[in-house]
Amino acid sequence: MIFEVITEILLLYNTPELYLEMNKINICDEKSVMKFIKNYGIPFNLSIQENDEHFNSNLSFINDVETVSVEMNALLFFQELVKFQQILRMWNDIVEENAEIMTKIKHEFENQATFNQRHQALFREALSSEEYANYIFNDSKLFLRGGELKKVYEAFKGNPDKLLELNKVGDELNNTWERVKDETDIKTIAFTYLNLKLKDLEAGETATRVIDGNIVPAMKFNNLTEVASFQLKQAIFKDLKLEECINCGALFEPIHGSQKFCSPLPGRKRSTCENTFNQRKKRERKNMKESRKK
Ligand SMILES: [Zn+2]
Repeated sequence: MIFEVITEILLLYNTPELYLEMNKINICDEKSVMKFIKNYGIPFNLSIQENDEHFNSNLSFINDVETVSVEMNALLFFQELVKFQQILRMWNDIVEENAEIMTKIKHEFENQATFNQRHQALFREALSSEEYANYIFNDSKLFLRGGELKKVYEAFKGNPDKLLELNKVGDELNNTWERVKDETDIKTIAFTYLNLKLKDLEAGETATRVIDGNIVPAMKFNNLTEVASFQLKQAIFKDLKLEECINCGALFEPIHGSQKFCSPLPGRKRSTCENTFNQRKKRERKNMKESRKK
């Protein structure tokens, strides 16, 4: 069941830092996932139920079918979330000119291009698609992992068109690598790789709507990860530089130059992190005074 949701562009204005809140989710920590859901609702397939009330529900389900579909969506969401968080981290590391990470990115880029080139050569040698699939899955060690991946392997084996598609994706990566590999500025190489990665990130699509009898531009999103990815891309276009919150260590988008904490959550005036930090300081001062008295 796939529903399409037109998310009001308003959502973007109300929660301009949704993408950074999404970056804070630790998928190994249920509490951090629930904290996000409490503030923003279920992040995937917003319209699992057709009435909007469900959006802010406390995850209570009516029947088994619904529970399963919510669980499946959670899985899909985590998969997309991991991809999103990796790309955001990569972007931030490059902006901060982290030399070690940029060198790693260059190696990853090179390894992937070499891997592709080797397999494309095999493909051109006119092997059967089955042989080609064998090569790909043996060489990438995917085959050895069995289970789910075995199904993927079988699907590719029986579908030469899909293999050709893979080949084409590989072409773009190889060509791009060949173009930038001798570049002396490692930042350019890292950004080029990041740009390829960005293409994997679904970030909604442009659409139009009618408001007060006029056709106006709008964005169409299928889920909150797409909204977050859209915001991330905007931040990259704007060449923003994120800062680390001195309370929680998470990345935030400074609205003014002296900002030291995460921005306030939607609908709130004060930053939660700023409050927590100040209260802790106050407690510490109080404790210091008391210990001096003794
Ligand atoms: Zn913070």
